[in-house]
Parts: sequence; C-alpha cells; structure tokens
Amino acid sequence: MSKLKSLIQCKCPRCQEGDVYTAGVFSKDYKSMNTNCPKCGLRYELEVGFFWGAMYVGYSLNIAISVTIGVATYVLGNNPDTWVYITSLIAGIVLMMRFNFRYSRLILLYLFAPKAVIEE
Ligand SMILES: [Zn+2]
Repeated sequence: MSKLKSLIQCKCPRCQEGDVYTAGVFSKDYKSMNTNCPKCGLRYELEVGFFWGAMYVGYSLNIAISVTIGVATYVLGNNPDTWVYITSLIAGIVLMMRFNFRYSRLILLYLFAPKAVIEE
C-alpha cells in the first residue's frame, strides 16, 4: 500500500496496517487515538506533547481550505457580496473541522514517525 493511501485511510505510518484512530470520522469519538499501533506497536505520541505540533499543520490545512473556498465562491458566485464569502468560509471550515483535526495529526505523524524508533 502506498504511503498516501495509508495516510488517507488513517493507518499506522510504519506498518501501514494498524488503525491510528479508534473510531470513524463521523463517530462521537472521532478524536480518540490508539496509544500504540495494534499491529506493530509503534507509540504514536513520539514524545511528550508531540501532537501540539499538529496545530501548525491544522493551521496550514485551514489556510488551504479557506483559499479553495474563497476562489470557488468568487468563480461560482461571480464575485458575490462579502457576507457570502464569510458565510461560505465559516460553513466550510466547520464542515471540515473533524477531517482537519485528524489529518493534521496524521500528517505530522507521517512526517516524523519514519525516523522514530520508539516502541512499547
Ligand atoms: Zn504499525
């Protein structure tokens, strides 16, 4: 399986088989992660406070989402009033919130986990 495909499917960055999250994105527990990979045992929190860094990834994901929605609103709405931009941006960011949370952590994990040797 390619790294991109396993990232999209929220799989472990090392073995690409174990689930990182315990529940689906539409579940009430969409935030809860496994501590270790159920297959290879990789500890997901590579160091204390590791996932604080996901804020920076989440910020850049939000910028990408906002620019996409802004351009789409301009093109599809033929440059509408300001309130249309504001409404569509807020709606888009709120709708993508769960995906943003999960994938910002996953992207950070995929950036740093291949170099890590931490196991339980
Ligand atoms: Zn694994």
